[in-house]
Amino acid sequence: SLQSLSDLIRGHAQQQPDEPALRDEQQTLSYRDLDRLMDRVAASLQRDGLQPGEAIAICGLNSTRYAALFLGALRAGVVVAPLAPSSTAQSLASMLGDAQVRHLFLDQAAQDLVPEGNAVLQCISLDGVAPGLGFADWLAPQEARPQPVTLAPEAPFNIIYSSGTTGTPKGIVQSHGMRSAHVSRGVLYGYGPKNTTLLATPLYSNTTLVVFFPTLGFGGCVQLMAKFDAQRYLQLAQQHRVTHTMLVPVQYQRIMALPQFGDYDLSSFRFKFCTSAPFRAELKADVLARWPGCLTEFYGMTEGGGSCILDAHLHPEKLHTVGQAAEGHDIRLIDEEGREVGPGEAGEVVGHSPGMMTGYHRQPEKTREAEWFDAAGKRFIRTGDVGRFDADGFLVLFDRRKDMIISGGFNIYPSDLEAQLRAHPAVDDVAVVGVPSEQWGETPVAYVVRSPGHAAQPEEIMAWYNQQAGKTQRLSDLRWIDELPRSAIGKVLKRDLREAYASHA
Ligand code: ATP
Ligand code: MG
Repeated sequence: SLQSLSDLIRGHAQQQPDEPALRDEQQTLSYRDLDRLMDRVAASLQRDGLQPGEAIAICGLNSTRYAALFLGALRAGVVVAPLAPSSTAQSLASMLGDAQVRHLFLDQAAQDLVPEGNAVLQCISLDGVAPGLGFADWLAPQEARPQPVTLAPEAPFNIIYSSGTTGTPKGIVQSHGMRSAHVSRGVLYGYGPKNTTLLATPLYSNTTLVVFFPTLGFGGCVQLMAKFDAQRYLQLAQQHRVTHTMLVPVQYQRIMALPQFGDYDLSSFRFKFCTSAPFRAELKADVLARWPGCLTEFYGMTEGGGSCILDAHLHPEKLHTVGQAAEGHDIRLIDEEGREVGPGEAGEVVGHSPGMMTGYHRQPEKTREAEWFDAAGKRFIRTGDVGRFDADGFLVLFDRRKDMIISGGFNIYPSDLEAQLRAHPAVDDVAVVGVPSEQWGETPVAYVVRSPGHAAQPEEIMAWYNQQAGKTQRLSDLRWIDELPRSAIGKVLKRDLREAYASHA
């Protein structure tokens, strides 16, 4: 039968009741505290009539209370839909409708998003600032215990709404079986009691959850940051002797750029993870050189359609890749007609894994669009990313297909142009996007974050670049930008740049 995460936590509460399980800037919950709080949450949801398989929504910043609520719901078999407080009110309303929730738990980060005139929805305020019934008033008494529930492996665990980098959010359901399998693979990454995992990415993202659940499943402690700050991250890491972490590339970049980086004792680190967005080879090399412990990059998607793993510490010559297909995962490349490409050729990445989603929540049409089947009928999920395998089977990623620029009939990968532009000392960060062009169909333009203290003009950098670029790869425009627009987990929002360009052309 299924050894659920809830059972694992109960076991730790019996074996190591006083060890810390969850910590944020305000409080620490021991395993005993966490287990009791989970019981009270589960009992409260059952009191409110929630059946296993029904969903609640949580929308707020990372906190121990948020995390305990998430885990407590699982104990009642209630499905959690963790939603981004950076959503618009409109998209929040559509996610609440899609997940059919009756309970929205929120904090002040989400207080302006509450849908009005929704008679079915009960709001519960996690921090007493956001509107709604106070969490303490909602919570069943100290001694409350839930009715035990039995969960099948295929029972839904959570619904994650994909970040919406390329369009409207799609609900992705993960099952208890899939999450349990993932937790057990945690043995590969040295999770255990006495470990501390520092997390500064939001709990509504799979990026965070893939590290959050194994840490607790193995009896370690999760230290949560509500908001990322590079300096504070390093202080917490040193103070709590952090062993594991997950950071997205832009967070690594901010941390490594701190002049005081070398002042911190980071010798406690054993495993560092990264996923979500392109992680530059030079940045990986810098992390390997100056930050103790292993560095493992994951490439994958919330849909679970197969992932690649790069153990950067073992393959310093492969830092420009995202590694090889994970064990039991199958990664293939297909062309525009849906045929597999030849060896060494580029194509859209499709992936198969034992834990992939059955489909988008209540969106059969979108599900069909995302599927690809090989000749033998094996099912894959399309990633929308373009990549190529090197001779050793390591995947080199270019760009999302939607970000690829087709100019005068040529395919241009923005990542190529970005890499060349970064070589200029005045270029601190850059994103290249395609904009409509009468002559070429589309043409590349660059948004550049200027390096501090550099006086160069945009025209100079563009001329410098265009001189060395192939004819088809030349930029039509280059503009300064203070900061690249990014999602809450650090993905560059190229769609926003294209829209900005169109409105300021
Ligand atoms: P949506 O599908 O709604 O646009 P999303 O694709 O950003 O959202 P996620 O499932 O969070 O939602 O992200 C998966 C995508 O993130 C991948 O398809 C890929 O583009 C990118 N990605 C993930 N890991 C890496 C990595 N290691 N290197 C480069 N890109 C990555
Ligand atoms: Mg996606």
